Amino acid sequence: MAYDKSNIFAKILRGEIPSIKVYEDAHTLAFMDIMPVSKGHTLVIPKSDAENIFDLDAAAAGPLLLATQKVARAVKAAVQAPGVMIAQLNGPAAGQTIFHIHFHIIPRWKEDLSLHGRAQADMKELEETAKLIRAQL
Ligand code: AMP
Repeated sequence: MAYDKSNIFAKILRGEIPSIKVYEDAHTLAFMDIMPVSKGHTLVIPKSDAENIFDLDAAAAGPLLLATQKVARAVKAAVQAPGVMIAQLNGPAAGQTIFHIHFHIIPRWKEDLSLHGRAQADMKELEETAKLIRAQL
């Protein structure tokens, strides 16, 4: 799917719709998520076009990660959260709804939401899956 310049975050970047900005530099913009999962939920986006992690330019990746780290530190301190979850969804099947890549910075206070599995996997199965991944690299 080609990048669609009519997505909401592209409109925010062009100043066509408002956002509550917290940080901006030459390559990135960070603003408050309009439907926060927790207090302080912030989004960080690159200024260059990219739908998801797979079409993100190598030159944009570094600044995006550094801005995410910088803003996450600020968010953590601002809302005094003991933990911060960073999430990034790729594709509708993963739950992505806006097709301009973004990192979610989500302060966390308790284990009400988890990305952790409940049981240890079968090591042979893990090794087989790892083999499949290595073959793609
Ligand atoms: P995702 O599902 O990863 O694509 O996340 C999209 C996020 O954008 C959701 O958490 C929404 O709450 C948030 N969102 C949608 N519209 C806006 C907007 N106009 N300003 C700020 N955040 C938004």
